[in-house]
Amino acid sequence: MMTPHPQQAALEHSLRDPEGFWSNPAERLHWHRKPSKALTRQSKTLPSGVQHEHWSWFADGEISTTYNCVDRHVSNGLGDQVAIIWESPVTQTTEKFTYKQLLDEVEVLAGVLREEGVRQGDVVIIYMPMVPAALIAALAITRLGAIHAAVFGGFAAQSLAQRIEAARPRAIMTASCGIEGAKGPVSYRPLVEGAVAASKFKPSKVIVWQRDQLRWNHPDKLGGQRNWQRLVKSARMRGIRAGPVPVKSTDGLYIIYTSGTTGLPKGVLREAGGHAVGLELSIRSLFGIRGPGDVMFCASDIGWVVGHSYILYAPLLVGATTVLFEGKPVGTPDAGTFWRIVEKHAVNVLFTAPTAMRAIRKDDPNDNLIKEVGQRGGLKSLRALFLAGERSEPSIVRAYQDLLTQFAAPKAVVVDNWWSSESGSPITGLALNSQEAISTGSSAKTERPLAVRPGSAGLPMPGFDVRIVDDEGNEVPHGTMGNIVMAIPLAPTAFTSLFEDEERFYKGYLKRFNGQWVDTGDAGLIDEDGYVHIMSRSDDIINVAAHRFSTGAIEQAILAHPSISEASVVGIPDSLKGHLPFAFVQPRASAEYPDPLSAIPSPQLFKEVNALVREQIGAIASLGGMIQGRGMIPKTRSGKTLRRVLRQLLEHGAEGQYDASVSVPPTVEDAEVVEIARGKVREYFEKKTKAKL
Ligand code: AMP
Repeated sequence: MMTPHPQQAALEHSLRDPEGFWSNPAERLHWHRKPSKALTRQSKTLPSGVQHEHWSWFADGEISTTYNCVDRHVSNGLGDQVAIIWESPVTQTTEKFTYKQLLDEVEVLAGVLREEGVRQGDVVIIYMPMVPAALIAALAITRLGAIHAAVFGGFAAQSLAQRIEAARPRAIMTASCGIEGAKGPVSYRPLVEGAVAASKFKPSKVIVWQRDQLRWNHPDKLGGQRNWQRLVKSARMRGIRAGPVPVKSTDGLYIIYTSGTTGLPKGVLREAGGHAVGLELSIRSLFGIRGPGDVMFCASDIGWVVGHSYILYAPLLVGATTVLFEGKPVGTPDAGTFWRIVEKHAVNVLFTAPTAMRAIRKDDPNDNLIKEVGQRGGLKSLRALFLAGERSEPSIVRAYQDLLTQFAAPKAVVVDNWWSSESGSPITGLALNSQEAISTGSSAKTERPLAVRPGSAGLPMPGFDVRIVDDEGNEVPHGTMGNIVMAIPLAPTAFTSLFEDEERFYKGYLKRFNGQWVDTGDAGLIDEDGYVHIMSRSDDIINVAAHRFSTGAIEQAILAHPSISEASVVGIPDSLKGHLPFAFVQPRASAEYPDPLSAIPSPQLFKEVNALVREQIGAIASLGGMIQGRGMIPKTRSGKTLRRVLRQLLEHGAEGQYDASVSVPPTVEDAEVVEIARGKVREYFEKKTKAKL
């Protein structure tokens, strides 16, 4: 038999002997109380009487994640290493924080928050742009043993209000404005005030980071409005600081809200101990970022899980340098910005979403800007380009693999990696240094990762037991498409429940396969070499520019329009964003607006509906198109909308194949409705084509 590759050996070890495997990396962290064992399995009984298997990591340990990310490195003499580099092309600023400076900022801000009433176990919402204060806030909240809930700064007031109601935060930490690309500052004030007004729960404090580009001044409409910088200045003068408060390993570190199949967002709860151990291992082994001197540039947002893990916690856990980027892949000022940052800070790993690479290639189709930097040797430090958030099409992987081979470090690779808010770190990928996972210490040699297979998201990472099953939960042979599920326990970075909602955790993830498997919601296959290929998600969720949105939530926003009685939203492929939401709407019989019978809605209606989506969900979920008609939304006999059928009709229609067959399940209530929808799709595309000619 051939010797397994280190990544396969690490995976095999982690699944065969989770106790032995995870005890080893746990040793590298500082525990206020050392755990006596890694894994505990038990059975849980829900209030509804359902019993299911549950697990915990390092259950009797106590830990401070902030201590491990900051204090520990300063105590180890690494205080002068750079922890954070802030690159903000939109404000033309570069700022650096050493670990010593970061500790100072975090200690003082934690002192401020304690004075403002934040205590262990409280929730604090972070609604911030990509400024260092956002990272300092998260670390300060964590330092007090409180739980942060970051909400993407681009979310609309209503989305923020939902999250305020769900998290019931003691305080909100926010900023006077965000700066979206080259568009200039966007005031956060109406968004936050609108959200607090709309929420039944009122946080007692709103702490505002004032930015010079657009200030948030008096009057204080919220009651507990505070000026962040002023509080810090005052605390500093009075010598107010807070030390690290350790929490139980199974206590919450943060909540991240993600789209569920119903309109209400799901609060994925990250637990302190497992997160620290699993994430530290993942950045070392998968990303090959091992410690001081290594530079990670994760061009995501701290509102998303990728940002939590690889902008904030993982690089700091190993004492590396993280690049925090306030800008866009294009337009700030151009499509070369990523490459110039790589050059300027000798970045070793760049992590972004495929949608960013598509945007870059659209603006720079001949790759001139990357070549310009590459030809002067500016990409030599780059060991890998990691892509996640949605499927990377083989053409993108190949194009960047060619460019890296030409200009980056020897053997640099493009790594498509698959994961989710629930998993906390990649479930699959190609590890740059699996030796790190299996050996003690950090003296492992660089190894050759498993070969890149474009179109696949690599092999499972340690602790993730990935299987493909049919709808009954039976495993299918290699190469067969099916539901992607995981066996319990999940790896330590992953969730073990939803915030204060064990029932929904069971219903959303375990019930479908009777508690035997954790459902990922994704479909795909595993080939004979063990590579996992991710194909699609259920139609309840669509992926727009690498972010998850619930079609149900978008439908709800559309239905707020007085002229619309029914709506169904599906994802349509988009060359830039992967997918765009597309709506089928039925006008009310009484609706009075132009052309209610035409498949193409009037521009005014489209504009109004889109405004609702932008207002209630966020601009990122703007509709890519809309078809109107009556009696065209097919349903099952039990009343479930057959979005898949509409999506197929639309995909065929976009290619002019109006008569192509679609798979209509036998449970359809009225097959005639599908034919009406087909007619509408044809009318829509024919009219659009004519309008273009
Ligand atoms: P989120 O929790 O918002 O990060 O979304 C997670 C979902 O994004 C996954 O369940 C997948 O549907 C999708 N996703 C993430 N990474 C990939 C990838 N590399 N390939 C395909 N889909 C992905």
